[in-house]
Amino acid sequence: MPLLGQTRDQLQQWAERRGLPRFRGRQIADWLYRRGVRTFAEMVDLPAPLREQLATDERVGRSAVDQRQQAADGTTKLLLLLADDRRIETVVLPYTDRVSVCISSQVGCPVGCVFCATATMGLLRNLTAAEMVDQVLTAREHSPGGKVSHVVVMGMGEPMLNYDALLRALRLITAELEISARRITVSTAGHVPGIRRLADEALPVTLALSLHAPNDELRSELIPMGRKWGVGEVMDAVRHYTRTTGRRVTLEYLLLGGVNDTPELARELAGLLRGEIGHVNLIPWNAADSLQPVRAPGKRSVRGFREVLEQQGVTVTERMERGREIDAACGQLVVKRAQPEAVS
Ligand code: SF4
Repeated sequence: MPLLGQTRDQLQQWAERRGLPRFRGRQIADWLYRRGVRTFAEMVDLPAPLREQLATDERVGRSAVDQRQQAADGTTKLLLLLADDRRIETVVLPYTDRVSVCISSQVGCPVGCVFCATATMGLLRNLTAAEMVDQVLTAREHSPGGKVSHVVVMGMGEPMLNYDALLRALRLITAELEISARRITVSTAGHVPGIRRLADEALPVTLALSLHAPNDELRSELIPMGRKWGVGEVMDAVRHYTRTTGRRVTLEYLLLGGVNDTPELARELAGLLRGEIGHVNLIPWNAADSLQPVRAPGKRSVRGFREVLEQQGVTVTERMERGREIDAACGQLVVKRAQPEAVS
């Protein structure tokens, strides 16, 4: 077990087990999380013989940056090499008023959304909490000003399918990296038990629901998990989340040309949301992705879809595509590299 991923309390207990004073655990927690060091040698307030001993006996748990691509808009995509040689993606998104990091929760993903490059990998394995925290620390190293203010769990994987590690990572990010839960967004493709469980954790993170279609027939074609939990059940869970946490739920709707971008579907979507969710994030499909059979929506259909929603009182934001030229959509970069075989 690497030391990264352990809580401050666990590190103090670990120090005691090694015959060290408890405060050594606190010092190491500060080095790991506050300063984000990668080696024991950098922990200069530990005695030199202890640093050498730890370098032999223990692992910090940071992953290496295998590849880095930066787009003209500042979006930086990092391909991280994990201890078992698997690769994941982390994207740093600098805005004028904040820096967000989009982190992965699994290596690959079992959900199988038809538009997603990560889906073609299947599930290779879940990430540990340490590997999720590591992505935020690494993003800090690649962020202008060395800071990250917001975290979105929207990279490779369905976070609710790796719930325990997700929760542990969220608690470490809030407690040790001092990023408030209100600045963290967890995105789900509609995993109903996960949404309900997260609602009851007293952790006021924002929930983002990837809906992508307002009815079961179309939705389950796009997101196979939609066959298990229908639109009605997902919306019930979302209502439960809003009521329990008092937090707004963001609804994400990926617009795919000729698939889910008609005015009729916009009306159906508005009807579904009425009075419950007042805000939709429209994401026109990224045509730069040549891996996928789906195509980008035309400008007219995006405008038409948006107008129908707005006429029905729904606030719409259009998410700007960022980092187009660096394969910034989920999974594109990793899929272009060989990965070991998926688990069945
Ligand atoms: S969109 Fe998300 S949930 Fe769907 S396959 Fe890709 S990573 Fe998994």
